[in-house]
Amino acid sequence: MSPNPARPSQPERRHVTIIGAGFVGLASALWLQMRGFQVTLADREPPLGNAAWRQAASYGNACTFAPQAVLPVSTPGLVWQVPRMIADQNGPLAIRWRYLPHLLPWLLAFLRAGREAEVARIIAVLASLLNRAEAGWMPLIETANAEPLLRRTGCLYLYKSQAEFDAADDWHRRREQHGVNLTRLDASQVRELEPNVAPLYHSGVLFNDAFTIDSPRRLAAALAQAIVERGGKFLTGEATNLRRAGSRVAFSIDGADHEADHLVVASGARSALLARQVGDRILLDTERGYHVLFPEAGKLLNRPVCFVEEGFYMTPMADGLRAAGTVELGGLSAPPSANRIEIIRKGVGKLVPRAGEATETWLGFRPSMPDSLPVIGNSPELPNVTYAFGHGHIGLTLAGVTGRLVAELVSGETPDIDMTPLRSDRFGRWGGKRQA
Ligand SMILES: Cc1cc2nc3c(=O)[nH]c(=O)nc-3n(C[C@H](O)[C@H](O)[C@H](O)COP(=O)(O)OP(=O)(O)OC[C@H]3O[C@@H](n4cnc5c(N)ncnc54)[C@H](O)[C@@H]3O)c2cc1C
Repeated sequence: MSPNPARPSQPERRHVTIIGAGFVGLASALWLQMRGFQVTLADREPPLGNAAWRQAASYGNACTFAPQAVLPVSTPGLVWQVPRMIADQNGPLAIRWRYLPHLLPWLLAFLRAGREAEVARIIAVLASLLNRAEAGWMPLIETANAEPLLRRTGCLYLYKSQAEFDAADDWHRRREQHGVNLTRLDASQVRELEPNVAPLYHSGVLFNDAFTIDSPRRLAAALAQAIVERGGKFLTGEATNLRRAGSRVAFSIDGADHEADHLVVASGARSALLARQVGDRILLDTERGYHVLFPEAGKLLNRPVCFVEEGFYMTPMADGLRAAGTVELGGLSAPPSANRIEIIRKGVGKLVPRAGEATETWLGFRPSMPDSLPVIGNSPELPNVTYAFGHGHIGLTLAGVTGRLVAELVSGETPDIDMTPLRSDRFGRWGGKRQA
């Protein structure tokens, strides 16, 4: 690891192109610059403060830096809920049945990841990343002068009954074992913290170290600005045709040919399409999620609030109150579900009665691996291609540490955590090519 991220440890001037300017790509670019690399970011729609940056999952998320998120999505017993996930298309976790044939290898691996021994292993790996997540972000936030965008208020989970709280409390204890700082609250303590939330809760938990980003768009623009000031370049267009070019890597942007010494694929939910061009099959899919914005309600809550049973966060942010979440396994091309948007809208009306009218709605694509662990590592096929994607529900939280790990890998250093669980080929023939 670099002892001081502000000073490049090597006077490298190698040129790295990063495909994807979501938070993972932006963080990787800045960490690489801090180590002396020249960087170019290529994206279909770069985040330089314009209104177009909507396709990135980084745009529309619940704005929450969530160190408590050590649990994978797949947990013991989930397998028995699959019929309901298919039958109830509007539930917090649903499978679009038309997509099922395509999803099958991913779904089987997802269910296998929910076995108890696997869950324990995954929690330990996630905790090793999450414990380094804030240290991965802060040098970037300081460099981009983006500290005013942070709200250090914690994040509140609410439970509607004693039974729901008791079931969740086993998981809280596991979180605590991995260093998560949380406070259990009764209903009156919740009311004191959030007087505008309808008293439909029995109890809650405050995750003390969580914080929010007031505007993901503004944070992205600040990072992009810092990258440009340090000599970085942005290319706008669709990257295709990744290929070896001697000791370098070649690719096309909207048909025009380019080369780089090293390529980082940080293309979110579309990354597997690019990896395939290099010759790597990766079991990446998407967990589709939605947001609905209530522009008049930004001051009604003091922090992100999540009624766990509902499956979405309500986060006060610069644009208003953003209700964001739910999971739909349905691929990249199906249209948004109007029903699901309506359920979130009605849900907020019930939980925060003064929320007012909803305006913006958004569908986004979480880049998700079956085991809820990201892919961070070099391509088995082409070693000067580094993969950085698959962060699922916590890509905003993990972008900084991912960027740091990417910069270390590209520099040829050995990171301070075991990278084996994050390899791109960990699902073998289902979605990878095992190295000998
Ligand atoms: C509803 C919802 C709520 C969420 N809430 C949170 C939260 O509160 N906290 C948290 O930590 N995480 C949250 N997440 C997850 C988080 O948003 C994602 O994990 C994260 O944004 C992924 O970042 P990324 O940079 O990998 O991908 P993205 O942000 O999707 O960026 C990928 C970029 O690659 C570009 N791209 C793709 N293919 C190409 C190509 N061929 N050529 C050029 N460019 C290409 C895209 O245009 C895009 O800009 C949430 C996600 C959703 C959907």
